[in-house]
Amino acid sequence: MTRNGSIAIDGPSASGKSSLAKALARELGWIHADTGALYRTVALSLQRNRLTEAQATDVCRHLENRKVAYSVQDNTTRVLLDGEDVTDLLRSEETGRIASRISQIPCVREFLFHLQRDMGKKGGVVMDGRDIGSVILPDATLKIFLTADALTRARRRFAEMQQKGVPGDLDAIRRDLEDRDRQDSSRSLAPLTQAQGALLLDNTHMTIEDAVKWILQKLPN
Ligand code: C5P
Repeated sequence: MTRNGSIAIDGPSASGKSSLAKALARELGWIHADTGALYRTVALSLQRNRLTEAQATDVCRHLENRKVAYSVQDNTTRVLLDGEDVTDLLRSEETGRIASRISQIPCVREFLFHLQRDMGKKGGVVMDGRDIGSVILPDATLKIFLTADALTRARRRFAEMQQKGVPGDLDAIRRDLEDRDRQDSSRSLAPLTQAQGALLLDNTHMTIEDAVKWILQKLPN
């Protein structure tokens, strides 16, 4: 098995990227790096400073004084915002919506680029996001474009929220996911797309274990 490789997993919201990346990293003894959490961290910082409606120039100015970093714990990444571990504060739908909007601003992507690239370069990493195979790790050992149909994705997100005791409406969640997909796929900068050389994996009818097996079989020795 490749010891120092990298796996890039891209795909739409709630397609199961993070759960799959986490399970793969555990299986391989690698690190799972969640890049959506970085965009959510920028969104959280803007929320805290009442800048969610700010223009791009004000967002860029805000980031000049921010420090976002990864720390590695038990095969996965935690995210630090100015030294504070904010990983457990990032999962609300509102933060996801803001993250999707501000991820179109060039200085935001630039701000997070090197952090992701450096993490990927270390090897032994399963990284998930929207532009990992196309922009961040174009030379990844294996690139996957993970999809599932919209209703399945909405149901998974709904179940996740119920588990956490967060109220939600299935139709509204589905509409929100589809809006975000549209926004992420149609932006001009690093849009969500199946990267060159990426294998398409539709996991609508698969368990995580099935998907892990499928991917491990494709990983070069
Ligand atoms: O995956 P997650 O829902 O946490 O990502 C939040 C948002 O961050 C996405 O909707 C997307 O707009 C943005 N994102 C991105 N590039 C990545 C990861 C996430 O633009 N590599």
